[in-house]
Amino acid sequence: MIGEDPKDLLFLCALQNAVKHGGIPQAGAVIGMVMGAHPELRSQAKGVSALAKEAIADVAALSADERVRTLQVRAPAMYEAIFAKHEYKKVLPDLEGSEKGVVMRFAPNPSGPLHIGHARAAALNDIYVKQYGGRYILRIEDTDPKRVDPEAYEMVKEDIAWMGLGITETVTQSERLPIYYELCTQLITRGGAYVCTCDNELFKELKQAKKACPCRGKSVEENLLLWQKMLDHGFKEGEASVRIKADLNHADPAMRDFPAFRVLDAPPHPKVRAHVYPLMNFSVVADDHLLGVTHVIRGKDHIANTRRQQFIYDHFGWKVPVYRHYGRMGIEGVVLSTSQMRLGINEGTYTGWDDIRLGTLRALARRGISPEAVRNAMVAIGLGDVDISFSWDNLYAENRKLVDPVANRYFFVPDPISFTIEGAAPHTAHAMLHPSDASRGIRTLQFEGSVLLPREEFAEGTEMIRLKDLFNVRITWNNGTPAFTYAGDSLADARAAKAHIVQWLPVDGATPCTLVTQEGEIKGLCEPNVGSELGKVVQFERVGFAKIDAAGPAGIVAYFTHR
Ligand code: GLU
Repeated sequence: MIGEDPKDLLFLCALQNAVKHGGIPQAGAVIGMVMGAHPELRSQAKGVSALAKEAIADVAALSADERVRTLQVRAPAMYEAIFAKHEYKKVLPDLEGSEKGVVMRFAPNPSGPLHIGHARAAALNDIYVKQYGGRYILRIEDTDPKRVDPEAYEMVKEDIAWMGLGITETVTQSERLPIYYELCTQLITRGGAYVCTCDNELFKELKQAKKACPCRGKSVEENLLLWQKMLDHGFKEGEASVRIKADLNHADPAMRDFPAFRVLDAPPHPKVRAHVYPLMNFSVVADDHLLGVTHVIRGKDHIANTRRQQFIYDHFGWKVPVYRHYGRMGIEGVVLSTSQMRLGINEGTYTGWDDIRLGTLRALARRGISPEAVRNAMVAIGLGDVDISFSWDNLYAENRKLVDPVANRYFFVPDPISFTIEGAAPHTAHAMLHPSDASRGIRTLQFEGSVLLPREEFAEGTEMIRLKDLFNVRITWNNGTPAFTYAGDSLADARAAKAHIVQWLPVDGATPCTLVTQEGEIKGLCEPNVGSELGKVVQFERVGFAKIDAAGPAGIVAYFTHR
């Protein structure tokens, strides 16, 4: 019975906490849970604290799978409670089989940081877990040593933290090789797989001809011996593989006896030293099953894998999760290929993984795109199976909704040129930090006879402009050279004359500012107070939103977000 023995109670609470949040709980959290439910234990605080430490150590000794299974068996109600419904606005269509909560996963390969293409699976899975309650597993799929970048483990976690995903536990596949080996032994024993030692070309030919290779008919005993030989370094790369018995007559050759394990001679894996590695279809099925994944949301490019994986589920007699495959999403205008990005960084073409010409999440962050905007854009795209092309404009529209109410306004004058305004007395301009929020305060800009204006601003022939928040200026042209004369303060006059309202800067105090865009750098000047907005997104009036990336004695560097 739960609750009879305080140590047991502490163990179950620690276990529930570990399953729910991933990682090892703090003693305080576990003691708090137990004391809350059993106030009578408060008089024995010291003893309870010592027992809590022991209970936590017992939980820590279990693997993530064992924790889930133990809790399911020992205290099913506590396991169910993890899935208690959250108050969460429904923004995505219902998923069948979600009544009791869901277990979902995001399963990136650590070959580089996450990019906008990953964001769809990452966000949609996360939203469903929040919508239904449950667990959200981050599974690092690093069983292909050739596609592992040692730095990506950290980068992926940072990107996930930036996106604000509600990850409850993290598993790394390279740490689970013994689990996959054991399952392979079971699968061979069930007659669902065999060790193939055929020459690759021969196997291909037989496969094309819908014929079994000579290895398919081997006995379980023979296969188990060969499998052991694989594990014992008895085969070199390419000499042996484990194949799943699939459908040799299937119309699609990819569905005919596909590989589940291979030998790699000396792969430089940053985490393990092994030479037998599972292929994705095997490790994905093993983990989806062992971790209790109920729903899988992934791209249409995995449909063939889903079909292959079905054979493995059938051999084991396991329940298949609910799948949703969303359509392809073409993304233009940025570099997304990890190898191309890495090459460009190594060659110095890109400044790093957050170079804003790249499609990485860190590049978006650097430009001032908020994770919430990425998320909202992904909700808008949803789970549809139609192929689409990703709309940057929609992402910008989502981001604009978020930054417009908070970004302070400033003047940035690109490529500035100084002009004297004839007939104008000194004026003080009072410009609002935010046009719809007076409580933010004002910026004061002092006019003393000359102003800095954007060189490109007015075409020859322009007769009047209004300097924003200051006054109107009449322009007369003499052989292509403009002359400026004060033309009154009235905004109504400027409107009547359909005058452009132009941002400007006093000559004194204007601060050098480089605006970095995906197309290149724009040199200019800005208000000195922009330096106080380091790390924030501001709006450069009439130019667009920008994130202040650096502010120092040499001036300001701002990254263009969008208009
Ligand atoms: N690691 C796989 C990928 O990034 C995902 C596997 C899956 O979703 O089943 O393509």
